[in-house]
Amino acid sequence: FVKTIASKVDIKNSIVDGKIITTESIIPAKDVYISNARHFVSRWIEPFGKIFVNLLKLIAVPLILASLIKGISDLKDIAKFRNMGLRTVVIYIATTVIAISIGLVLVNVFEPGEGISQQTIDNLSATYVGNSNIQGKLATAAAQKDAGPLQALVDMVPSNAVAAMSNNSLMLQVIFFAIFLGISMLLIGEKRAQPLKDFFDSLNDVVLKMVDLIMLFAPFAVFALLATVVVTSDDPEVLLALLYYALTVVAGLVLMIVVYCVIFALYVKKSPLWFLKQIAPAQLLAFSTSSSAATLPVTMERVEEHMGVEKEVASFVLPVGATINMDGTSLYQAVAAVFVCQALGIDLSLSAQLTIVLTALLASIGSAAVPGAGMVMLVIVLESIDFPSDLLPVALALIFAVDRPLDMLRTTVNVTGDATVASVVAKSLGKFGKPKVKDWDDNLNEV
Ligand code: ASP
Repeated sequence: FVKTIASKVDIKNSIVDGKIITTESIIPAKDVYISNARHFVSRWIEPFGKIFVNLLKLIAVPLILASLIKGISDLKDIAKFRNMGLRTVVIYIATTVIAISIGLVLVNVFEPGEGISQQTIDNLSATYVGNSNIQGKLATAAAQKDAGPLQALVDMVPSNAVAAMSNNSLMLQVIFFAIFLGISMLLIGEKRAQPLKDFFDSLNDVVLKMVDLIMLFAPFAVFALLATVVVTSDDPEVLLALLYYALTVVAGLVLMIVVYCVIFALYVKKSPLWFLKQIAPAQLLAFSTSSSAATLPVTMERVEEHMGVEKEVASFVLPVGATINMDGTSLYQAVAAVFVCQALGIDLSLSAQLTIVLTALLASIGSAAVPGAGMVMLVIVLESIDFPSDLLPVALALIFAVDRPLDMLRTTVNVTGDATVASVVAKSLGKFGKPKVKDWDDNLNEV
C-alpha cells in the first residue's frame, strides 16, 4: 500500500522508520498519506457535500419569503403581529444575554488563556498570521466597522428586492422585504390580499416538499461534509495547545443546551429529551454545515411538523432567529475575546467585560448565518474593548486552528436556541399544538 502511494507521488526510493526517502528530501510517510487522503476526499467526496449545501441554499430564499409572508398574512390583524414580533425579539435578546454571561463566567473562572505559553503564541502566529483566510476576515471586519454605527440598519433595507434575493448573504434584506410585504397584505384586508396569499401558500407547500426531497440525500451528504472537515482539519498538536480554550467554549455551549432544556420543561411543559429528539436532525445538519441559514428549512420542518408549533409562529420566529439569534456565536465571542486577552497579557476591567456583553449581543445579531461569520464579528468585539490593532492578526491566529470545530458546535446551539424560542413564543400565544408527524413514543412526551 505504501509503495502504491509512493509511486503516486513519484517517489522511487525506500521507506525507513516511517519516513519516505526521495532523491531530494525526506518526507514523513504520514504527510504523504494525509495529502493523498485530502486529494481523494476533495475530488470524490466533497462535491456531494457541496451539492447538498447548494440545494439547501437554493431553497432558503423562496422558503423565507413564502413562509414569512404566509405567516404574517395568516395572523389576520396587525396587533397580533406586533404582539408576536415583540415577544420574539425580547426572548431572543434575553437568551443571547444569558449565553454571553455563561461564556464570561466560564472564561473568567477557568482562565484558559493563562496557560498558553509564549512559545505556542509564537508558533501559532508564525503559522497563521499571514493566512489569507485571516487577512480576509480582518478586511471584512474593517469594512464593516468603517461604515459607521447605523450602517447595519441601512444594510437591512434593500434598494432592490430582486437583487437581495439573488444573494444569499443578504438574508436580512429578504426578511425585511417579506415582513414589509406581509404587513402591507394585512393592512389591505383579507379579501383583497387573498390571491397573493394563495400564491405564497402554495409556494410554501412546494418548497416544503422540496425540503423533503433534499433530505432524502441527507445521510450521504452529512457523511461527505464531515469527511471533508476531518481530512482538512489541522495538526492535532496545534489543537491540543488550544484544548483548554476549546473545552471552555464547549462547556458553555453544553450549559446553554441545558438552559434550553430547563426552559422547555418549565414553560412548554414537555420533556426536554423529547425536544432534543425532535430537533436532532436539524442539529446534525447545523453541525455538519456550520450554517444556520442552510439548516433553516430543516429546522422549520422539525419545529412545525414534529413538535407541533403552529405555522404562523414557526414561519416568523425561525427565519428571523436564524439571522439574528445566535446564542452559540455570542457565547463563543465572549470566551474568545477574553481568552486572547488572557493569552496576550491584556488586563480586562469589569467595564470592558460589560462592553463585551453589549458588543457580543450586537455582533451575534450582525453575524451572517454562514460558516466562520462569528470570527469576523469577533474582531469588532475586540475593537470595542480597545484591543491593540497591531495584535488583531495574532488574536485571530491564536483561535483560528480550532475555529471550524467550534463553529460546528456553536451553530448547533444557534439552531437549538431558535427552536426553543419558537416553542416558547408559540406556547405563550396558545399556538403549541400536536405534532403533525407522530413518533411511536410521543405519548411519553408530557412532563
Ligand atoms: N456559523 C454560524 C451560524 O451560521 C455563525 C458563526 O458563529 O460563525 O450560525
